[in-house]
Amino acid sequence: MEELEKAVEVLRTVDRITVYTGAGISTESGIPDFRSPGGIWSRMQPIYFQDFMASEEMRRESWRRKIASDGTFAAAQPNRGHRAIAELHRRGLCSSVITQNVDGLHQASGVPGDRVIELHGNATYAACLDCERRFELDAILAAFKADDTLPVCDHCGGIVKTATISFGQSMPLEPMRRSEQETLACDLFLATGSSLVVYPAAGFPALAKQAGAKLVILNREPTDLDGIADLVIHADIGPTLGEAVGID
Ligand code: ZN
Repeated sequence: MEELEKAVEVLRTVDRITVYTGAGISTESGIPDFRSPGGIWSRMQPIYFQDFMASEEMRRESWRRKIASDGTFAAAQPNRGHRAIAELHRRGLCSSVITQNVDGLHQASGVPGDRVIELHGNATYAACLDCERRFELDAILAAFKADDTLPVCDHCGGIVKTATISFGQSMPLEPMRRSEQETLACDLFLATGSSLVVYPAAGFPALAKQAGAKLVILNREPTDLDGIADLVIHADIGPTLGEAVGID
């Protein structure tokens, strides 16, 4: 495959990679793409942040859905694509991973947590909306299953919510700021597993390109930014990245 040789060549010539990942990398680990046609949000109305805040019943509904979907996240393991990115980090080449995913699989594959920038938060734990204290899900879900107890922060009394960014909830400022910084500082921006249609996904690759970085897009389907990329590969992510980086 000619593109793969080109990818290997690009990796040889850069020394600071910012990786951007979307749902496509995690579908290979069995995590459904929630926003895709046929995905959970096309069948079920999402719970908007304002409704979650306004109503105990909506908070209960949200935790019921969490229980229903939790097996998917708990069972998922990093795949070859995640491991290839972790290997790039281990070699000192990948300075950060910006991700739309909430599954924590980059951290599970060995990328340090402070190098993973999560634009949509993380579904594998919960946090207080006021003081941001972290809470593990096991205890929350056990209490809720027992008698519908809604979690409350034992530190400040705030509402505890899964640490994801809900529909209607504003994008976190700090991850956006760091993403921009990492985008401007890299010499290769590798975008994978995202169709790059929706802001901010669409903004960062173009920004990297403007700042002089190479842009490589690896995705199963065409993306909106294929036209401005230096190299486009339409293929499965795990096998392609695994081969390009040279890991099993
Ligand atoms: Zn709190």
